[in-house]
Amino acid sequence: MSVKDNLDQVFSHYVRQLYASHAGRVRCSTCVVSRHWSEMTCGHFMKRGFLMLRWVVENAAPQCGVCNGHEEAQRPARIEDKMAKWLDARYGEGTAARMREIFGQATEGQGSMSEDEMRLLLRAFREKMRAEGMALPGDCVPLP
Ligand SMILES: [Zn+2]
Repeated sequence: MSVKDNLDQVFSHYVRQLYASHAGRVRCSTCVVSRHWSEMTCGHFMKRGFLMLRWVVENAAPQCGVCNGHEEAQRPARIEDKMAKWLDARYGEGTAARMREIFGQATEGQGSMSEDEMRLLLRAFREKMRAEGMALPGDCVPLP
């Protein structure tokens, strides 16, 4: 597995568990569905193709498979609006606008990351998750 794939997995585990209840349940950021975090997905507010925002916690939220299943270009505006509100509620008013701004200013090739940088980020996420008692990819996840 590439460092990038590994980082994607770890980041997704982090985002889905961050707001999970003691029982491991988390609500979709863009609808009323509530499930065990292992049955949810990690949705990105601004497209994850842009590496500068791909592993930024303020640009991601837990989502059910249905809400996160739309093609990026065909994602309904209401889903984007709901995620914007969810992010603002957790990380402060203006967070979604800031993500949009960063994304809007991005140019081709900008925000690329070396493998070493990805490795550092990966290690940081792993350490934080271990410290907070979160499950990492490969850990045995209790069934809901
Ligand atoms: Zn949903």
